[in-house]
Amino acid sequence: MTACEMMEALGLPANEEAARKLTEYNAMVIAMSKKVNLTGIKDVDESLIKNVYDSLTVYDPKYFPAKGRVLDLGTGAGFPGVPLAILRPDMQFLLVDSIQKKLTFIEDACADLGIKNVKCLHIRAEEGGRRRKTREAFDVVTARAVKAMPIIAEWSLPFVAVGGVFAAMKGPGADEEMKTAGRILRELHGTLEEKKELTLPGGDRRTILYIRKTAPCPKTYPRKVGIAEKKPVL
Ligand code: SAM
Repeated sequence: MTACEMMEALGLPANEEAARKLTEYNAMVIAMSKKVNLTGIKDVDESLIKNVYDSLTVYDPKYFPAKGRVLDLGTGAGFPGVPLAILRPDMQFLLVDSIQKKLTFIEDACADLGIKNVKCLHIRAEEGGRRRKTREAFDVVTARAVKAMPIIAEWSLPFVAVGGVFAAMKGPGADEEMKTAGRILRELHGTLEEKKELTLPGGDRRTILYIRKTAPCPKTYPRKVGIAEKKPVL
């Protein structure tokens, strides 16, 4: 599958420049992964499906407002943040991770490809969610393959502006995870608005949970570094 075919399969408008950037970014990730540990996937075609295509499945124009702000938490090699930024050059993206070398790769690759709407922030989620500049400041917060729901909800919802959405990208175990997340979602004023289930080309199953933030989070969240993982709110 080419990036053009991929965009068509996802119902996205044809855009040759975006397809070229998606293809080149994917190739850069795979080339760099041979030197440093960026993604477990080592094959370009497999990565195009399991990283790039998968990243774009979270996109729905109803959640991504014109000129809005998106934060991708635990972005790793830039997924889903960079493919979304390529798709939506009018929006500003902040890619957050606790490992600097991953962010250095993303910054260099985006500079090479002329992707101008991506900034990176090296910080732990628990600290970023308390900072005045980043707290309750984003229309959308995405997180793919980052921790179980009670933890990632505590980390993500403080970044979301009231009225915005946290999009949790999960595998087939999402329903089980949601059963453990009721209390933290209530405390942080997150309401499940939509559950999107899909199958990637090749057969892997995915679930995306769109959680709407209806009121400000209590100031006591997120708790200090490491606490959500050690003592999740259940
Ligand atoms: N989202 C990417 C993807 O789907 O390919 C990366 C997923 S990787 C399994 C999880 C990422 O979360 C890692 O890059 C890790 O460094 C980052 N991470 C883990 N704990 C974090 C924290 N407390 N704050 C920020 N990032 C964190």
